[in-house]
Amino acid sequence: MGGEMVSRADAGFANIWGLQDCAETIAEFADEEIKAEFLPRVCEGQTCSMDLTEPDAGSDLQAVQLKATYNEKDGIWYLNGVKRFITNGDAQIKLVLARSEEGTTDGRGLSYFIADNKHDDTIKVRRIENKLGIKGSPTCELVFTNTPAKLVGVRRMGLIKYVMSLMNGARLGVGAQSVGVSQAAYDQAIAYARDRRQFGKAIIEFPAVYEMVSMMKAKLDATRALLYETTRFVDVYKAYESLEATRKLTPEEKADYKEYQRLADAFTPMLKMFSSEYANQNAYDSIQVHGGSGFMKDYACERIYRDARILTIYEGTSQLQVVAAIRHVTTGSYLKQIRHYEAQPINPEFDSLRKRLMSMTTLYENSVTRVAETKNQEYLDFQARRLVEMAGHIIMSYLLILDATRDKEDLFRKSAEIYLKFAEVEVRKHATYIKTFEVESVDVYKVQ
Ligand SMILES: Cc1cc2nc3c(=O)[nH]c(=O)nc-3n(C[C@H](O)[C@H](O)[C@H](O)COP(=O)(O)OP(=O)(O)OC[C@H]3O[C@@H](n4cnc5c(N)ncnc54)[C@H](O)[C@@H]3O)c2cc1C
Repeated sequence: MGGEMVSRADAGFANIWGLQDCAETIAEFADEEIKAEFLPRVCEGQTCSMDLTEPDAGSDLQAVQLKATYNEKDGIWYLNGVKRFITNGDAQIKLVLARSEEGTTDGRGLSYFIADNKHDDTIKVRRIENKLGIKGSPTCELVFTNTPAKLVGVRRMGLIKYVMSLMNGARLGVGAQSVGVSQAAYDQAIAYARDRRQFGKAIIEFPAVYEMVSMMKAKLDATRALLYETTRFVDVYKAYESLEATRKLTPEEKADYKEYQRLADAFTPMLKMFSSEYANQNAYDSIQVHGGSGFMKDYACERIYRDARILTIYEGTSQLQVVAAIRHVTTGSYLKQIRHYEAQPINPEFDSLRKRLMSMTTLYENSVTRVAETKNQEYLDFQARRLVEMAGHIIMSYLLILDATRDKEDLFRKSAEIYLKFAEVEVRKHATYIKTFEVESVDVYKVQ
């Protein structure tokens, strides 16, 4: 909620303020000595950066080349190489993914290190990027030359364990950032639409405008519901994790812990993809509601539009979120959770909405079966986004109906109805596309 509020005011500032959860990673995986040295500095206001990306290692972090060498004589690791596109590259504390195992080429040769500004003479900010948006957040290219560093956790687990955990936290952060941007876009649009008059009335009274504004609100509410559901899953499994550090968990607690961890894994990429895509759509529509004024720098929607654009790219592009989410389609995780929502008590007036969602779920199940039956990996990759989107539309519709059921002030009813209508069309569209698509037709799309 904090992340969302800060981002609503300024998405760039949200990055400095702690979007990436670097301190949490230190707290979770570093030894006591490192924690004692670095965490108080974070509390004092020093900033952190997450140094993963390199010129030849973006989405594919297994390709990281920055070299970590252990010097037996002084018992210290040294870092050498280049990182690019690093948010807060000027940070006092840097978490760096580096190749510690010579001769390796994959993720198992990477470890995680902490370096700091006591060695600034060995870390150069070679470039500060000139960007489209989030201009309040410096994005830097860094050169490490014999930079002393400390190993975080265990060797070879850098990417496999620590960065995966860090990235999940950061993806949740971008989820919150995206919801904040969506809210800002909506706030600007509705205020302008109420104020601006054309043809003798406020433009909000035109169906074309109020439909656009209501759809923005529905997408905003849907992704906020998904954000809070995802953070709830993360909170519960992290609570079990903390409890496990103090005592042995009972078998029931252990099973619950694993279940919430699985749900957090399944929902995080779905949240990141939907919230960031909807933040962009809302930013686009916010400018549209403003007409020509929206194209001018005088209105906040111009900045919001530029700021939104990064959300579908960093911390893993939308395409990479689909890569992470698709196994929860094929293993049935999303379907299991959809069935769970389906069985929840709801306000009887939403029964007809639930019936429609049950038909949508059948379409989803049939589409998954149809794609899986081909046993063709390339075809699955081709249809993956549609399948993940179908699951997401159904899940967000249920979350809104459950919110509307709990809600005494009638805050969610409209969005529940509007989102479900939109979701229904999207699910049917994807189902028809998959049903009528021959596997061989993928070849038509291949670009030479
Ligand atoms: C403003 C900004 C701030 C950033 N901050 C940080 C930071 O703090 N720390 C950090 O380490 N990095 C940071 N990054 C880097 C960011 O995480 C990467 O840019 C991003 O992960 C994409 O990598 P790339 O740019 O190399 O694109 P590429 O990996 O080259 O991707 C290009 C295109 O190919 C697609 N693609 C690639 N692989 C696949 C695949 N397997 N399946 C389907 N599609 C695929 C992508 O979706 C994308 O559309 C930042 C970037 C920016 C722009």
